[in-house]
Amino acid sequence: MTMRRRISVLGATGSIGDSALDVVAQHPQRFDIVALTAHRQWEKLARLCVRFKPRMAAMLDADAAVKLERALRAAGMSTEVLAGVEGVCHAATMAEADTVLAAIVGAAGLQPTLAAARAGKRILLANKEALVIGGAAFMAAVREGAATLLPIDSEHNAIFQCLPPGYRGDPAGAGVARILLTASGGPFRTRAIEDLAHVTPSEACAHPTWVMGRKISVDSATMMNKGLEVIEAHWLFGAPRACIEVVIHPQSLVHSLVEYVDGSILAQLSNPDMRTPIAQALAYPERVASGVAPLNLAALGALTFEPADPIRFPCLQLAYDALDAQGTAPAILNAANEVAVAAFLDGTLGYLGIAAACAEALRRIPATPVNSLDDALDADAHSRAVTREWLRRMNAPRMTA
Ligand code: NAD
Ligand code: MG
Repeated sequence: MTMRRRISVLGATGSIGDSALDVVAQHPQRFDIVALTAHRQWEKLARLCVRFKPRMAAMLDADAAVKLERALRAAGMSTEVLAGVEGVCHAATMAEADTVLAAIVGAAGLQPTLAAARAGKRILLANKEALVIGGAAFMAAVREGAATLLPIDSEHNAIFQCLPPGYRGDPAGAGVARILLTASGGPFRTRAIEDLAHVTPSEACAHPTWVMGRKISVDSATMMNKGLEVIEAHWLFGAPRACIEVVIHPQSLVHSLVEYVDGSILAQLSNPDMRTPIAQALAYPERVASGVAPLNLAALGALTFEPADPIRFPCLQLAYDALDAQGTAPAILNAANEVAVAAFLDGTLGYLGIAAACAEALRRIPATPVNSLDDALDADAHSRAVTREWLRRMNAPRMTA
């Protein structure tokens, strides 16, 4: 008999939240929503609460939580409303939930996702930044909490599907030669390099194949997203750096590939719609319809692949460098990138400044070993401070003689 899943959605108002709730709504007999959380979009969360009737809802922002509670009571609903990080962490750990969808954007997702791991939940992981920062500590929490980690980042979900069932984090033992992560190349793959200095946030967010939140859209344009995904793959699949390669595939139909020592390459293909990997992970090991149209291979014509240009995409190399440096380096890189992307989105930093800010943080802050999660969180805070200071200097009026 099919097990009924009781799901807590962290980051319910975002792009991944939308896709996940769309799949859930197609299978009311299989999936129950027990908690929904968001940052400050209380009106949208109120609508979702009315539709999915969770037991509890949490808003990071305390004022938004008050407004949400008022709106829900006016709608005659008794949904418990909590606020702050504690509220979000309660949604991640509550006994009523067996499954936690980790879809908060950025480092803010680390604490609740880690709490879900310690509580032994089945975690559907979209929040790659948690793994990039938390690394070994996060994976240890998954093991110690006997949690289950199912990747829903499309590339990692594809790799998961191409690895043998029961794969235990040992590529050599499973006969895996290489993991090949595909990247679309984003909106600037063919843009003249001289023009990149002038691209705007709306151009950077206009992804050619995927519809996503703004931060990850910018990360896709710079290919920092792929760099973070290399680090994510390293932790998820126990793969050494030399075993993880990136190839550009502009059609975004092959979501990643696994090459075996006998020369076989297995790939997962589907339309670029996050409902496919989300449905795969929600129902795993069973399968459910996702609402995504099937691929018409004959109509597609061609799938193309090309190498990533290191001059156009310096962020990818920075991520490999951070993985090589180990310790706190990935946390330093991720934090600098979050600060720089936010500055780019609010118009205070040019596009090329994103890679420059990340390189500067990695250069200025030496990587040190991570013996505890606090080491990684300290590095995150240090890198944010250094990057904000760098931004202030960049934006300070120039002294003239
Ligand atoms: P989004 O910006 O659309 O949504 C983010 C969600 O997180 C919102 O619900 C927001 O309210 C919540 N949130 C933001 N800051 C918060 C905070 N400080 N505390 C608590 N909640 C907070 O982002 P998204 O595109 O849905 O991406 C979510 C995560 O999934 C990211 O880590 C991203 O890298 C990953 N991901 C997204 C896609 C995609 O297609 N969108 C694909 C793969 C991976
Ligand atoms: Mg991805």
